[in-house]
Amino acid sequence: MREIQMVDLQVQYVKLASEIDEAIGSVLKSTAFIRGPEVRLFEEELQKYMNVPYVISCANGTDALQIAMMALGLKPGDEVITTNFTFIATVEVVALLGLKLVLVDPDPHTYNISVDRIRKAITPRTRAIVPVHLFGQCADMESIMKLALKHNLYVIEDAAQATGTDYIFPNGIYRKAGTIGTIGTTSFFPSKNLGCYGDGGALYTIDESLAKKVRSIANHGMKARYQYIDIGVNSRLDTLQAAILRVKLRHLDEFNSARKAVADFYDEAFSGCNSVIVPERVKYSSHIFHQYTLRIKNNKRDALKSYLESKKIPAMIYYPGPLHLQEAYRYLGYSENDFPVTSQLCKEVLSLPMHPDMEQEQLDYIAVNVLNFFEDQ
Ligand SMILES: *Cc1c(COP(=O)(O)O)cnc(C)c1O
Repeated sequence: MREIQMVDLQVQYVKLASEIDEAIGSVLKSTAFIRGPEVRLFEEELQKYMNVPYVISCANGTDALQIAMMALGLKPGDEVITTNFTFIATVEVVALLGLKLVLVDPDPHTYNISVDRIRKAITPRTRAIVPVHLFGQCADMESIMKLALKHNLYVIEDAAQATGTDYIFPNGIYRKAGTIGTIGTTSFFPSKNLGCYGDGGALYTIDESLAKKVRSIANHGMKARYQYIDIGVNSRLDTLQAAILRVKLRHLDEFNSARKAVADFYDEAFSGCNSVIVPERVKYSSHIFHQYTLRIKNNKRDALKSYLESKKIPAMIYYPGPLHLQEAYRYLGYSENDFPVTSQLCKEVLSLPMHPDMEQEQLDYIAVNVLNFFEDQ
């Protein structure tokens, strides 16, 4: 049996090597490393896949969030509501731009931002909501969009973990995660569902003037050569990364279905085990399982993690500490017990190995060991 990895990029590369090497080779020969033709081609292909009018690539998913907030013209003091249970990038950019970060608890079953908590956090100074489609499943976008419409707020979807997830409206219409709000962002960090071989990111919007603004800001605020209309940043997707992403985008649906098959196996394997709670799947979204995250009951999470490690099974805690208790975010003035759901999740969650190339033998071995741990208790 191959050594188990949380994400096995090596086995994926070996499978795609001929296509990837050819793509990289052709960029090397062209030497068009910045803004080469592959960047525009990748944007066009992603735009078709996402079924959204505008896709603008950039250097990474964190920049994508920052550029989105800059393009919307958010100003210091404007309040931005987001979840306390996310990767740091989501909140970091809010703080960096001098916006007022308003954190709320997630829903304990879906791990996604709680609409009820958003509603309670809205004030006259609220300008935007940032739902994160955590672990590959959409937040409750219908309710969030209704709330945003009522209070005239922007919705910035952080879809870094949900490239390829479908949101399903009650009337049966499907939309890709990231294309429902005012603007959506994603990341192509290597371990994301659509990952490159370095950093990369993109923004999605249906609004033409917003798309222009985003494109300008991501490239130094430049309209024509040496003519600057916005204060911008240097955030472009490398041509090499775009060439790699073009190859991987062709396989994305296949990768995401393989992840789902792994999740189905785990769900089934743990269905009789009442010491763990398997991730909830909602009606209004598909799930692409960026992570397969269990909740471990009775304070056994850390012991299970060590046990699995002793069996050479990696398992990770996403996320171990509530953001409001991180040193850098103490200035927000929240107190320890302000976010009971986040605090509980941080103590209970454990993500198991999840990637498209897991072998049945590995899956059986993981399941048996998780179950053995609880039988021995
Ligand atoms: C990965 C990630 C980001 C940031 O992406 P980078 O490309 O690493 O900057 C933002 N938000 C979430 C939820 C993420 O998982």
